[in-house]
Amino acid sequence: MENRIAVVAFGGNALHPEHQVGTAEEQEKNAVEASAAISEIVHNGYEVVVVHGNGPQVGSLLIQMEKAADEVPVLPLYACVAGTQGTIGYMLTNALRQECGRLGLSQEVVTVLTTVVVDPDDAAFNTPTKPIGPFFTKEYAERMAVEKGWIVVEDSGRGYRRVVPSPEPIGILEKSSIQQMIEHHNIVIACGGGGIPVIIQDGEFKGVEAVIDKDLASSLLAREIGAHLFIILTGVPQVAINYGQPDRQWLETITVAEAKKYTAEGQFPPGSMGPKIAAAIKFIEAGGQEVLITSASELDRALKHQGGTYIVP
Ligand code: ADP
Ligand code: MG
Repeated sequence: MENRIAVVAFGGNALHPEHQVGTAEEQEKNAVEASAAISEIVHNGYEVVVVHGNGPQVGSLLIQMEKAADEVPVLPLYACVAGTQGTIGYMLTNALRQECGRLGLSQEVVTVLTTVVVDPDDAAFNTPTKPIGPFFTKEYAERMAVEKGWIVVEDSGRGYRRVVPSPEPIGILEKSSIQQMIEHHNIVIACGGGGIPVIIQDGEFKGVEAVIDKDLASSLLAREIGAHLFIILTGVPQVAINYGQPDRQWLETITVAEAKKYTAEGQFPPGSMGPKIAAAIKFIEAGGQEVLITSASELDRALKHQGGTYIVP
């Protein structure tokens, strides 16, 4: 019997929460916890593709490179994304292998270095919005703006940060390889950090200084491989309307039409819940059956429809 496919996306914070410094030991322990959640999805009879974020990890890498910039050349951002796909992919692969062994599951676990195509004419290239990497002094930020053409912004009184474009993902180069691995019942880790962003120019693939939103990249992946279920694991057990206010109301199941209505009301801020809802809407509108947004600790209950927020046609 052919199994159903689930794509599960989780935030970079899941492996490197804000209250931790991000040692290898911490991240490896967090990977073990994430693996327990992922194996629950396998247990529910799905072939699983995992997408992870990389915000804190790529931020740390950029700090390391900035500090050593006068000794070792700083690498472009797309290369840093590739690097974090490797490090995070390794930690998850290792943890998942161990978890599968413990549960007597026979799946192989594979990390795919994933390249995601963006449109060079995407409007995002004209208005960079995504803050990345370390905080700088005004002087350093201004010097980098002149020397390297960085766009820098003042970030909530904490210093100056570089902002980069966050274009829409439009294609996944390794799609058919990922599909073949799923057919062979492998657990696949792909599109880490939203994927390595490239444009196609004169028939060549060229890395660009941008980052792709991992929620949008995982939605594209879910659509392209015909996933049945798209799961987004994040810091809250459910999506709410009037989030953070006294009249907050947690949502159990909403239709795409309701999701659009709440979006128009401004219920889902850009940069946090906004892209998740947008990613969910795109998946359902392309023929997907259901999206589940919840936290890793609620996943077990949510898969039994006793928690989480489902978005349906
Ligand atoms: P991730 O790292 O998983 O992408 P984000 O911080 O980007 O997580 O986005 C998820 C966060 O969005 C939640 O943890 C919550 O704090 C916040 N949030 C904003 N609006 C809402 C809402 N309407 N309902 C639930 N959470 C919301
Ligand atoms: Mg996010």
